[in-house]
Amino acid sequence: MFIDLSEVTQRLRRMSSEELDVSGSYQNFLLDLLNEGKDTLGVEHVSVWLFDDITAPNKLINVASTQWPNDQSVIDYPELLCEEFPNYFEAIASGISIDANDAATDPRTSEFKESYLDVHNITTMLDTVIFKNGIPHGVVCFEGTGEQRYWQSAEIAYAEMMADCCSRRLLVNDLWSLQQQLTEMAFQDALTGLKNRRYLMDYAHREISRHIRSGQQLSVVMIDIDHFKLINDSYGHEIGDVVLRAFSQQCLQALRTEDCLCRLGGEEFIILLPNTSVEGAVEVAERLRRHVEKHIIESGTHHIQVTVSCGVGEVNLAKPFSQSLKEADHAVYDAKAKGRNCVVVY
Ligand code: GH3
Ligand code: MG
Ligand code: MG
Repeated sequence: MFIDLSEVTQRLRRMSSEELDVSGSYQNFLLDLLNEGKDTLGVEHVSVWLFDDITAPNKLINVASTQWPNDQSVIDYPELLCEEFPNYFEAIASGISIDANDAATDPRTSEFKESYLDVHNITTMLDTVIFKNGIPHGVVCFEGTGEQRYWQSAEIAYAEMMADCCSRRLLVNDLWSLQQQLTEMAFQDALTGLKNRRYLMDYAHREISRHIRSGQQLSVVMIDIDHFKLINDSYGHEIGDVVLRAFSQQCLQALRTEDCLCRLGGEEFIILLPNTSVEGAVEVAERLRRHVEKHIIESGTHHIQVTVSCGVGEVNLAKPFSQSLKEADHAVYDAKAKGRNCVVVY
């Protein structure tokens, strides 16, 4: 098969330069490239396989294929084990493209003869290595049926460029994941894993007016652990941290998934309760207060009972959210004055 290298590589380079949504599956953001490769080289199918562990690979995992149906949920990603196909893995590790004109007799691909080539009538393979930081990370496999091929150098160069395009998209995907992680971290409290104050304020900015305008009520509960300093003083700061983590989990157990629990800082927490009246919020706070009081936290030989003082307030559009927080804080102050371990409404 003759290909005009300058024409097909230019098409590929343009495709590769396009902005792309890499937030989905590998298949999702590699498939257009693979289909392009399939048409250009006139093969039966094209697939991408990645090592499970780039520094010590044990297997290759199939992450994209022109053969797969549109419904991604039916795919259980096929795998190839290194121990079953040592020659093939060694060839990939070398980084050199595998131009197996006759796949059944080429020593790099003959391991697939009975289990794969014969079953699917594959006669010829061209596999080019996907690199990451200069190290083989996976391969793009072009597989043909019918007549045996003699892979031309232009075709190999094209297939290698295809692997580089995949490599580039995988890199963009890595960066995207990293960015997701950083965003997540920026809104997460490192000690408890709960959302943090920044998240609360961001959520408030985005959601509150929309929520209330749609005719729903919104309430806020501020929670302050009673005599927490005493826990630190009695058991040490580290046990204090254990208590904060265990307490956070207890709160989550007592709440609905849509309730937004955040750690404001120290031993102070906030719950934003969508679609909840002040009366409803008092019930939630009371349920949470009893739940926390009842569940003793164990750490080593210590059995620590925690109680909380809660302040409940209403969130509405007539006042800024910061005002609602101040009011809930005020109610907590009153709860402390009343003897702690209780719920007070502003
Ligand atoms: P009250 O019942 O009046 O709320 O008394 P309290 O002791 O809970 O309140 P206070 O504000 O006096 O003390 C809060 C303590 O929480 C003091 C601080 O050292 C401790 N603290 C704040 N952040 C952390 C943390 O991340 N880990 C631990 N272990 N302690 C913390
Ligand atoms: Mg406090
Ligand atoms: Mg306290």
